[in-house]
Amino acid sequence: MIPVVSKLPQTGTTIFTVMSALASELGAINLSQGFADYDCSPELIALVNKAMKEGHNQYAPMAGVMALRERIAEKTEKLYGAVYNPETEITITAGGTQAIFTAISAVIHPNDEVIIFEPAFDCYAPAIKLMGGVVKSLALEPPNYRIAWDMVKRLINQKTKMIILNSPHNPTATILHKEDIDELSALVKNQDILILSDEVYEHLIYDGETHHSMARYPDLQQRSFIVASFGKPFHATGWKVGYCMAPAYLMNEFRKIHQFLVFAVNTPIQYAIAEHLKNEENYLGLAEFFREKRDHFRKGLEQSRFKLLPCSGSYFQSVSYRAITDEKDADFSIRVAKEFGVASIPVSAFYSKGIDHHVLRFCFAKRQETLDKAVDRLIRV
Ligand code: GLN
Repeated sequence: MIPVVSKLPQTGTTIFTVMSALASELGAINLSQGFADYDCSPELIALVNKAMKEGHNQYAPMAGVMALRERIAEKTEKLYGAVYNPETEITITAGGTQAIFTAISAVIHPNDEVIIFEPAFDCYAPAIKLMGGVVKSLALEPPNYRIAWDMVKRLINQKTKMIILNSPHNPTATILHKEDIDELSALVKNQDILILSDEVYEHLIYDGETHHSMARYPDLQQRSFIVASFGKPFHATGWKVGYCMAPAYLMNEFRKIHQFLVFAVNTPIQYAIAEHLKNEENYLGLAEFFREKRDHFRKGLEQSRFKLLPCSGSYFQSVSYRAITDEKDADFSIRVAKEFGVASIPVSAFYSKGIDHHVLRFCFAKRQETLDKAVDRLIRV
């Protein structure tokens, strides 16, 4: 063996792969990794097929199929009021994760500090570290996981280059409120701090709440990479298509990396999604679609000994199991999968210091019968 110095010595296999593999090995109901157990729309599949038959089978332009970039620009202006130039400010990516990695690698230099809020989606920190950046994490607490902005202020110094935000939030299902935006705006004003805003659950927001996209606030928009995905909203996570929007000066750097990381993304799927986006009901209807699932799952779980945490957005429902056992969440989630046949994600996996509040995350992007079956099993825990 040739000696190799690991670039990520502390990093193991992502919890999503671990828990999905365990679920499939055990034949457990998989409410761990976030994906639908029903198919995406037949019309969308027909549109992919049509694009293939029409011969859209060669490389897309490096930044993405123009028709799709135009639809994204229209949607963003309509929903959030920001005008992005599809030519220079929008790039189609191989899913949200690639967009996040690319944005971080485009601007983070050795010793730059990046503030993240934990629990944090597990791809943020490794990307920062690979670039030689320093992760400054602020741990948030259940049940509301609110950001204490005075603590953020204390983390900011000359080396702070970026703040990573995620709303609606994975895994906690919380959202940023207008007060958070005001605090954030005041903090970054007159500072050279960029924002990476992971908004892949933008349309999955409930109870009349507003999605506070960075695109709504010109001062924030001017310093932000906004990342979104088509996998979650269109129930097609396997297609791995998402996008990034940023002002041209940032997108220019983004594309320098993107062109050599993936060059371009799956062409026929981009044509199909561009068509699909023409009907706004295809994304505006998602909140109601998932609210029903959320309410159904929550109602079922109320009969269990799990305590439901709030769920304002995303398709995840977290629960506290303090009333059941003191076991570590990593052990308990494995036991629930093995003994009761339901796989979940232990939320400590999203804390760098292994903080364990005894919380599990379940994905409710599932058919009603799957949710009912899972609830029947979870009631027995
Ligand atoms: N976003 C999905 C989740 O939270 C997983 C994505 C992945 O597996 N990389 O479950």
